[in-house]
Amino acid sequence: MSKWHLIIDVALCHNCSNCFIACKDEHVGNDYPGYAASQPLHGHSWIEIGQRERGQAPMVDTAYLPKTCNQCADAPCTKIGEGAVHQRDDGIVIIDPVKAKGKKEIVASCPYGAIWWNEEEQLPQKWIFDAHLLDRGWKEPRCAQVCPTGAIKAEKISDADMQKRAEAENLKVLSPEFGTAPRIHYRNLHRFTHNFLGGTVIGDVDGRNECLEGVTAEVRQKGSVVGEARTDAFGEFKVEKLPSEEGEYQVSLALEGYVTSEISVTLDQSRYLGELKLAR
Ligand code: SF4
Ligand code: SF4
Repeated sequence: MSKWHLIIDVALCHNCSNCFIACKDEHVGNDYPGYAASQPLHGHSWIEIGQRERGQAPMVDTAYLPKTCNQCADAPCTKIGEGAVHQRDDGIVIIDPVKAKGKKEIVASCPYGAIWWNEEEQLPQKWIFDAHLLDRGWKEPRCAQVCPTGAIKAEKISDADMQKRAEAENLKVLSPEFGTAPRIHYRNLHRFTHNFLGGTVIGDVDGRNECLEGVTAEVRQKGSVVGEARTDAFGEFKVEKLPSEEGEYQVSLALEGYVTSEISVTLDQSRYLGELKLAR
């Protein structure tokens, strides 16, 4: 059976907050019986945008990560609250706004922190994939509709087909170690979860120091190659998708006609290594 999934491209999100605002517009002051009670004006972010800066000048990038309820296939929130939380046939997880009244323990059941406590209503609440709109014939939730860059795409496909697509397109879920089988997949998630190593390579060209294009920068860890990149016309290289845990790396810079350079680097965050000179 088909289920609702989201595919979010981290590289396309530019933090305009339209998705966050559309969720507010839909829910603040609006009750949808059977789906969700009104969201409080302040304090809740059913869709929120995380932010991460990497690197040092001049090689810096910022990634934005839209996060919300993952509509997990194996959702721990559905296992507590004595029937107050249920998963629909289309995969959308609903916290019943009547049955969940007073059940604060539902908030802590979500390992993603996607459930918010409405103090005034004494109610756990979260993003409902705009199920109330989909049931009226909408083809996508409002966050996908308002995203100006196309960073959010909604798909209604089987979990098996989504899995195949995730493998083919290298899509990832947040914190897979939680084991909840999220139905939100991310493209370019490494921008948020991994480090890069970059630098600018110069060398002697006709008696002058020039940026060197086409230098191979190979990064190794414990003897295994973990990343590679080539310098561009400005002599810059950026090796992506390095683990975010602290580690020791060896970087070799190689270009025909120059002596290969070897550098050891301790990496606990994304780093720009500065100008690196190759000798003839
Ligand atoms: S609407 Fe799109 S681009 Fe804007 S913050 Fe949300 S995901 Fe990012
Ligand atoms: S993200 Fe949290 S609230 Fe949403 S379905 Fe999964 S466990 Fe439940």
